[in-house]
Amino acid sequence: MSLFEKAGKKFEETKRMFTDGKEAEYVCRSCEEPVAENCGYCPHCGEEAVEPVE
Ligand SMILES: [Zn+2]
Repeated sequence: MSLFEKAGKKFEETKRMFTDGKEAEYVCRSCEEPVAENCGYCPHCGEEAVEPVE
């Protein structure tokens, strides 16, 4: 496994942890950051692009 593939796999695991974790029930469609609750806008980038994690 190349270093790149390893890093990619790690990223996917981290992403899954964020999206399936108990903290983040929402994710920002704009910056793809996990959002703990739907407050109408993303606390990371300010976009109104927060949607529930499926
Ligand atoms: Zn955002």
